[in-house]
Amino acid sequence: MKSLVLEEKLKLSLRDFPIDEPLGPRDVRIGIHTVGICGSDVHYYTHGGIGQFIVKAPMILGHEASGTVTEVGADVTNLKVGDRVCMEPGIPDPNSRASRLGMYNIDPAVRFWATPPVHGCLRPSVVHPADYTFKLPDNVSFAEAAMVEPLAVGVHAATKAKVKPGDVALVQGAGPIGLVTALSALAAGCAHVFLTDVDDTKLEIGAALSRAITTINITRQDATAEILKATEGWGVECVFECSGHPRAAGQVFDALCPGGVVVFVGIPVEPFHYDLGKAMVREARVEQIFRYAHVFPRCVGLIASGAIDVKPLITRTFAFQDSVHAFEVAATAPKGQVKMQIELP
Ligand SMILES: [Zn+2]
Repeated sequence: MKSLVLEEKLKLSLRDFPIDEPLGPRDVRIGIHTVGICGSDVHYYTHGGIGQFIVKAPMILGHEASGTVTEVGADVTNLKVGDRVCMEPGIPDPNSRASRLGMYNIDPAVRFWATPPVHGCLRPSVVHPADYTFKLPDNVSFAEAAMVEPLAVGVHAATKAKVKPGDVALVQGAGPIGLVTALSALAAGCAHVFLTDVDDTKLEIGAALSRAITTINITRQDATAEILKATEGWGVECVFECSGHPRAAGQVFDALCPGGVVVFVGIPVEPFHYDLGKAMVREARVEQIFRYAHVFPRCVGLIASGAIDVKPLITRTFAFQDSVHAFEVAATAPKGQVKMQIELP
């Protein structure tokens, strides 16, 4: 069976791409079932790289995956053949200083699927450490399980914010990550979330997720004025900056309440400025996240219990044989699409 290979910028092919992957004692082999298309996959396709990561040799795309265990290493005790699973795509060096301190996601040695030169998971099977492979309850579908990876970003952001029951949040940016962050903020206890964007289609999808989400189109409305009016001049306890846009990112303190927290989630293309004076008069806490750590089992639990419903975010599914077409569609950023997925046979 074939793999989806990014040969070079703007050139994808579905072809045989044998990878010799021995099964270590603590590894499992997984038959891949569903893979979500991420903005980063699309960016590698359209630009041939992201920042310092340049595609210099053919690379298999995909990092948001679920599947079924087909083989287990000799020392694996937590999984067995036939288990349905999802996988955390970043594998750190377990002995690194960052990993030993519990910050394995920012271990400089982390190897992450579909980040050159590491191959992704749009292929028939992968070998993965059992420690980064998570069993699914029967009521979590493969499609939902392939949403755990993006959801993990939102859950990690809400964790960093230390959301308290009844907090009010602002999420800037209604793309896939903004939407999972809004859902995570609500699941963490927020009473209300304001969601801003420039695109009405994205905001409509956000508004439909929960009656606790109020959307604001910043091309027509003054978000800060609306939020201050709705909160009797106090502002929001948490701001999640998910747009990565310099102007939005520069205004993160405007609607923040005294003592509030800002979490930067969206990755800016260029360095940007924010108003430190506004942060100081609020004694704002400012956090950054990079991917996630320790949250995959929590995400599976939130989906299984119904505390978070990711199904409305899965807007289109392609068969694996159509995956080149799927990326061509994704590259046009079609309106109304949140998460497109590819299903393997
Ligand atoms: Zn992703």
